[in-house]
Amino acid sequence: MNIILLGPPGAGKGTQARKLVEERNMVQLSTGDMLRAARTSGTEMGKTVAAVMDRGDLVTDEIVIGLIREQLETDDGKGGYIFDGFPRTLAQADALGNLLVEMGENLDCVIEMQVDDEALVDRITARATCGDCGEVYNDNTKPIPADGKCTNCGGSNFQRRADDNADSLRTRLMAYYKQTSPLVGYYYAKGDLKSVDGLASMEDVAASIASALGQAEKS
Ligand code: ADP
Ligand code: ZN
Repeated sequence: MNIILLGPPGAGKGTQARKLVEERNMVQLSTGDMLRAARTSGTEMGKTVAAVMDRGDLVTDEIVIGLIREQLETDDGKGGYIFDGFPRTLAQADALGNLLVEMGENLDCVIEMQVDDEALVDRITARATCGDCGEVYNDNTKPIPADGKCTNCGGSNFQRRADDNADSLRTRLMAYYKQTSPLVGYYYAKGDLKSVDGLASMEDVAASIASALGQAEKS
């Protein structure tokens, strides 16, 4: 199956994508992670996108579509793809549709993770991740352990994203509502959309996603 996780920043797309990778052997394609990797490795493209990302604006369609195309051409995608944070514009959605057709693949399901704006602000400003394994922590609900070691991998390299601050969050939310939220209607009209309550517990969200995927598998 190939699926899209759609939702505003902080909706929990990355967390659920990681679960699907573990449990179903799917391949996570996160354009946010790819762009951050390009910054860390200091490529020309990484340097170009750094300021845009820190501000919370979207990088160009050309860059992210190029990243996705590259991955689709090199991975074998066994187990299916999870598109996480992509597409974010109508142009990206059209490009993804064309890429999948070129590869003889289908889009099976688009999961919209619904979360209210207050909760997003709370979640994101409290967010930290393990730099070694990607485990996600939250100062209020899942604090970094007192011994300073990641519960998943034992690492102690915790990180906060440069764009997880109140100002760029506002810009990211605006980008979501202006540029990305039209995709909810787009995929609804195509008949691919399933909405889940992203405010439920991590396990309950995972269960709703599993049931949405089960329905999509049958149809
Ligand atoms: P979040 O969903 O938490 O906002 P991501 O890790 O998906 O974060 O993305 C971080 C930033 O990377 C975005 O704010 C944007 O600048 C850039 N980015 C990621 N994916 C895309 C995309 N598909 N199109 C344009 N910009 C993107
Ligand atoms: Zn870890």
